[in-house]
Amino acid sequence: MIKKADENTISNWLSALAGDGKLFGPNAEIGEWGIIKNVSSMGNAFEITFSPKSIFLPRRQKLFEMDADKPAETIREVLPDIPEGAVLWGLRPCDARALELVRRVFNENEIADPYFNIIWDRIVRIAVGCSEPQDTCFCTSFVGGNPFGTQGVDVLATKIENFFILEPITKAGEDVVKNFPDADEEDIEKLAQIKKYATGKVNSSVPTDIADELLEIFYDVDFWKESFANCQGCGNCTEVCPGCYCFDIVDERNGEKIFKNRVWDSCISENFTLSIDGENPRRELYRRQRQRIMHKFSYFALRYDRTQLCVGCGRCVQNCPSQIDIRKVVKNAVEENIVEKQTN
Ligand code: SF4
Ligand code: SF4
Repeated sequence: MIKKADENTISNWLSALAGDGKLFGPNAEIGEWGIIKNVSSMGNAFEITFSPKSIFLPRRQKLFEMDADKPAETIREVLPDIPEGAVLWGLRPCDARALELVRRVFNENEIADPYFNIIWDRIVRIAVGCSEPQDTCFCTSFVGGNPFGTQGVDVLATKIENFFILEPITKAGEDVVKNFPDADEEDIEKLAQIKKYATGKVNSSVPTDIADELLEIFYDVDFWKESFANCQGCGNCTEVCPGCYCFDIVDERNGEKIFKNRVWDSCISENFTLSIDGENPRRELYRRQRQRIMHKFSYFALRYDRTQLCVGCGRCVQNCPSQIDIRKVVKNAVEENIVEKQTN
């Protein structure tokens, strides 16, 4: 059943969750997603540069800890400590969809990664529908993607005037909103209008089912060099991306304790493919950027039912210091492929 609640009611509910240490969301004071202690620090998802990926795949996550003097005898697994009934409020539908894609990787071949899955299973995800998509958004390019998409979402909340319409998508979502009053027909009609209006405002798109075309231009070195001629190798594009999940596992010592930590890594980093003998198959930046695009639009799609590992959130476009736009790269890649075929 679709529910509704006015802004004050939602604010009071979130305050109570925050008071119990059960609220996660966009923290505008520190510009990052995480636990919210006071709802006054909560911002809007569009104000935060980063995606909520850092909640499910923390930048630095303890996996094991041990005593430095006898590590083998004292090694202990450190599993995520997420309170029962935790709620993540305010993620964008594209972010939820990206995280759902990342989840597939962390559950492949019946091997479930407990560190990711414990967090995923314990946090109810309430996405807020995007009533005002930005110029850089292109979520509607992808099958199942739109400003009110529900993949990876437990409840979809859409703001209309001074209240929220709450659409439960999963059983966990139903449970969390069951005490709010039901929405009436007029609310549901307004909801449909807002969805139609906002979806129509997403006005940029990319070709998506291009896994095979990209493979065909893999060796077109000029294309890749030209596309990323101005790239500075800063890695912003992978850091802000909700779908990038590369990590490294490192041993770190703090006093008498040693930790085995999982830390974010990036295919844009020069050391990403550096091997111990000094060889590096992706020494040049164009090769690393080629890997980024190939992974998102070709390798991932070929492995996972032709679903791309990009959801059109536009963050990499907004945060590239060189104004490199993945939409242009992908469109040019397809055009390059057509030209090549015509001239052969
Ligand atoms: S954000 Fe831009 S400049 Fe930085 S690595 Fe990515 S494409 Fe290159
Ligand atoms: S638009 Fe850029 S940041 Fe967003 S999902 Fe696609 S590749 Fe990642």
